[in-house]
Amino acid sequence: MIAEVVAIGDELLHGALLDTNSKYVAGRLEQVGAVVHRFTVVGDEPGALEAVLAEACARADVVVTTGGLGPTLDDRTRDVAAQLCGGPLVFDEASWNGILEWFARHLRKVPDSNRRQAMLPPGGAALPNAVGTAPGFRVRIGRAELFAVPGVPSEMRVMLQEHVLPALAARPDCTPTVQRWLRVLGPSEAALGERIESFMVPGRDPAVGVTASGGLLTVRIVATAADRAAAEAKCDATAAELRPLLGDWLFAEGERELPELVCERFAAAGRTLAFAESCTGGLLAARLTDVAGASAVLRGGVVAYANEAKQDLLGVDPALLERHGAVSEPVVAAMAEGARRRFGADVAVATSGIAGPAGGTPDKPVGTVCFAVADAAGTRAWTSRIAALGRAFVRDRAVFEVWRALLGWPDGV
Ligand code: AMP
Ligand code: MG
Repeated sequence: MIAEVVAIGDELLHGALLDTNSKYVAGRLEQVGAVVHRFTVVGDEPGALEAVLAEACARADVVVTTGGLGPTLDDRTRDVAAQLCGGPLVFDEASWNGILEWFARHLRKVPDSNRRQAMLPPGGAALPNAVGTAPGFRVRIGRAELFAVPGVPSEMRVMLQEHVLPALAARPDCTPTVQRWLRVLGPSEAALGERIESFMVPGRDPAVGVTASGGLLTVRIVATAADRAAAEAKCDATAAELRPLLGDWLFAEGERELPELVCERFAAAGRTLAFAESCTGGLLAARLTDVAGASAVLRGGVVAYANEAKQDLLGVDPALLERHGAVSEPVVAAMAEGARRRFGADVAVATSGIAGPAGGTPDKPVGTVCFAVADAAGTRAWTSRIAALGRAFVRDRAVFEVWRALLGWPDGV
């Protein structure tokens, strides 16, 4: 079952709004065995919209559109679908009653323009909307069954769950798809690609691909089969072949994130953690406390931004700050040791760096970040040069580097 997703709306083309609907729809469609071949983003202009829908409906078995179902004249999905069905829109009494009820429940008067939302393309069936006014519809166009759902993400999700996924799951050509994620830390994307080259050939079944995000690599295995168990078995077989090739690089399987793994390893070892954060500004503590169960591990953290805070809260010697500057290995080492003492933690981590855009110097350019990890065996400090691609980037990479250090990965990979 080949599927396409079409995100409709002028706002998506003007840089004002990112199309997040397609990503969501594709993830859900894949679970019921629809293989998404293409996303299209198109504005509300009827000519362009008609061309896009006609092409998608000629290529795919299933087309899901989001957006363009509002009551105003600039929302054109209904009209264009009707045109492709070769007839005028048809008024649907049941949809209109649903809209009337929705307004009555919300104690609001029904604007006349809402009648537009009760219109269906000829031959179409309404998809009731339990969480908003705009009903969707399904209709056959060309080779495809087209499902039109609203653009508002919360409504789109409910409509997908209630109407689209069950309809697809019931189709005879529904082929369940299973994914496995192998999380890799250490190699560059190119080095990883070379190692598993023989798996990444186009058309391989299961398909194997690599995605990189935030310095973390994910090897994705995707298998499709007549039933779920068969697809799982195919994934398992490929994962079993990949594991020995990945060796030490493989640090987790599934949708696991690094803070979760840090928490898990510390909890298993019965060790506690504390943070002394300058340039990361509390991100380490925030990300770790996203994990359920962080309380067993995290003793606390300090955001010590000013030199005075580093001295007063963490006991950093003013002479160190004077001599080496706040972004230096001796200072982060003292910050980590101070945090370890203050919080009574087994391990403390400190960060201090120059996130930019200002504040860089020739020997400490923007992106210079010093790290220290203090534990009972001593304190280890190191310096990284992160690419100066904006404050958020520098801070995120610094956070990533801390997780990597806590999980025992070597520096500078
Ligand atoms: P519409 O159904 O076209 O009137 O869309 C209603 C609202 O939903 C828009 O103004 C956006 O805020 C949101 N929206 C529409 N399409 C998308 C999309 N593809 N991704 C994320 N949000 C969207
Ligand atoms: Mg719109």
